[in-house]
Amino acid sequence: LRIAHMAERAGSAPAKGPRLIAVGSGKGGVGKSTLSANLAVALARKGRKVGLVDADIYGPSQPRLLKAEDLKPQAKDKQMIPVTTPYGVKLLSMGMLVEPDKAIAWRGPMAAGALTQLIEGDWGDIDDLVIDLPPGTGDVQLTMIQKFKPAGALIVSTPQDLALMDATRAVRFFEKAEVPVIGVVENMAGYVCPHCGEASDPFGSGGAEAEAKRLGYPFLGRIPLAIDIRTASDAGTPPAAGEGPIADAFAQLADALVE
Ligand code: ADP
Repeated sequence: LRIAHMAERAGSAPAKGPRLIAVGSGKGGVGKSTLSANLAVALARKGRKVGLVDADIYGPSQPRLLKAEDLKPQAKDKQMIPVTTPYGVKLLSMGMLVEPDKAIAWRGPMAAGALTQLIEGDWGDIDDLVIDLPPGTGDVQLTMIQKFKPAGALIVSTPQDLALMDATRAVRFFEKAEVPVIGVVENMAGYVCPHCGEASDPFGSGGAEAEAKRLGYPFLGRIPLAIDIRTASDAGTPPAAGEGPIADAFAQLADALVE
């Protein structure tokens, strides 16, 4: 009932515009923001014109991840104009609507309104709009899905059982909302010790692939747990913008969305 009510209020989806790709996860901390940023950069490297909406109200991290902390969005007729990050990806973030370091305790409708403002920003001529959703399956996600009808949703999970259960819930949520699930990406899969070179699996191995198979969706690949990913992300230099096996892994993920 609630979904129907929100859909009625929100009206129908816009007829044209960029392809909306929602990136979701069942819980926080699995690397959804890191993955969204790097996917956006990888798509841009393939020549796509890409926008990124940082919809994570509880922890907007995209300005940091994409070195855009000093960039301020402008507004034109109350419409927000995204900033252009050094990686060519346009960005609007929940973090740009509030002062840094201020705790955000928004109620659902306020958060949903803010998200609408970001998605309806003046994105210009872009091909893809990647949406980094807050973790879970709450009001913000519902509004987004009902109002903007993403072309597809990508689910991020670690290989760990508990995260997988949450990821499965996220898959079911998108199915219920009739948003096509593009596939599942496994993050933090496998760790190679930088000292001794020994490989290990802190969060298990192969879980997300097996779960994607069980649910009948494509498995889109795995991103290793790597100190380089964490340090590069913190420094605002997304690994997807560099060279090497990790950049290749993100390029492959982008391929799955372009073909
Ligand atoms: P979420 O958006 O799901 O909450 P984040 O993208 O913020 O997760 O990632 C949580 C933390 O884990 C961040 O410190 C990030 O740098 C780190 N992280 C994410 N993916 C990896 C990875 N593959 N290897 C190492 N650290 C990672």
